[in-house]
Amino acid sequence: MKIKFCGAARTVTGSQHLLEINGKKILLDCGLFQGKREEAFKINRHFPFDPAEIHSVVLSHAHMDHSGNLPTLYAKGFKGDIYTTTATRDLCAVMLQDSAHIQERDVDFINKKRAKKNEALFNPLYGFDEVREVMKMFKSVSYGKKFYIDGFNGNLSVTFFDAGHILGSSEVYMEINENGKKIKFGFTGDLGRFNLPILKDPEFMGEVNYLISESTYGGRVHDKAVEMEKQLTAAMKDAIARGGKIIVPAFSLGRTQELVYALSKLFQKQVVPRIPIFVDSPLSTNISDIFKLHHECFDRETSELLSKGNDVFGFSNLTYIKDVEESKSLNGFKGTCMIISASGMCEAGRVLHHLANNISDPQSTILIIGFMAPNTLGRKLVESKDQSNAMVKIYGEEHIVRAKVLVLNSFSAHADKNELMDYFNKLDKKSLEQVFLVHGDYDQQQEFQKSLGENGFKNVIIPEKLDEVEI
Ligand SMILES: [Zn+2]
Repeated sequence: MKIKFCGAARTVTGSQHLLEINGKKILLDCGLFQGKREEAFKINRHFPFDPAEIHSVVLSHAHMDHSGNLPTLYAKGFKGDIYTTTATRDLCAVMLQDSAHIQERDVDFINKKRAKKNEALFNPLYGFDEVREVMKMFKSVSYGKKFYIDGFNGNLSVTFFDAGHILGSSEVYMEINENGKKIKFGFTGDLGRFNLPILKDPEFMGEVNYLISESTYGGRVHDKAVEMEKQLTAAMKDAIARGGKIIVPAFSLGRTQELVYALSKLFQKQVVPRIPIFVDSPLSTNISDIFKLHHECFDRETSELLSKGNDVFGFSNLTYIKDVEESKSLNGFKGTCMIISASGMCEAGRVLHHLANNISDPQSTILIIGFMAPNTLGRKLVESKDQSNAMVKIYGEEHIVRAKVLVLNSFSAHADKNELMDYFNKLDKKSLEQVFLVHGDYDQQQEFQKSLGENGFKNVIIPEKLDEVEI
């Protein structure tokens, strides 16, 4: 058996790991590389393997950096099956459509520049046709159900375990028989956290001989997930006292539903006044509808609330907005309200309008609940907290930041260093022969490798992109 690390190697984006088992190629994840436009453009158009040779894809979850390049794989000749959980399949149906939109917008931007220089124009990475076709290749399987991949004569079985990271997210456990040699192989996908709202806690997949593990926060400790409610209550009270609007840039998948859920609990307990809440994003609205279909992914608390008739994703003072005119009409809304809108890092989408309209109002609040990558508007807003008269650019226009920027650090969908270590400590060190750390910046990976070493895990490798190992 061979493993080739084709993405998310010493970085957090573009998850793709190629397994060669009994002479056939299985791709774990087929993520988009997200980064600087030119670099992403090159990487996402060229796979370091022939897509036509891929037998099947096993997909850990619906985040774009894990699933977002599947339509390109199809367009370049892949004809196999895509195995994933039911919820991940449903999420991919709307997320990939949205991604096709973004691809069109991105290529327009590049083509405008190229047209000025009389250079040949590019096509989008993929469009709606490729998304429609690739969706036909999905085979969805429930958590905990062992299944055999077609074409391996019973020598390759897969079981998905709940990774507790986002709706439908899974750890992939494989039992492999290669010429009589039996291998237990695991891929963590992205691991979630204990006590996250809505989702079940990460399950333990059991003993493995080889493990590919994520390491996003291998060197960092988060505020506890249980702090979330306390921090949110304090932020809401502060913002409501000042009387302006509360603008929350939030990822459509995960963070928006977690926030809505946390708010529903605060209103239920009557610890903050029931101000109007708007989720202003067509994608977030569609994703919230998919959440309602997948009770099998919910933890006990959420299931109990729902069984008692509490609609945690749709309470009386919450309005989902798809329509553009309705979205614009929020500008004229008088009084305190919260507008939750995408994109999560303030790089595009409707949140930009709401920021432009409220950022210079000292009564307003900008509530940051997610990770903001360097060079994004979201990061600039976080940094503006420590500056007086900070200026930011929105749609090419300068705005002075007078709104109060509040940052909550308890919302994170990734296990931190301690939670990752807790997971590892359940593994039997004797049967674990080798660990490969992926999906992390190199400094985080090195720190985690060191901690693993101190805890008795010796054979821990941080592969570079295109490294190949034989096991
Ligand atoms: Zn993820």
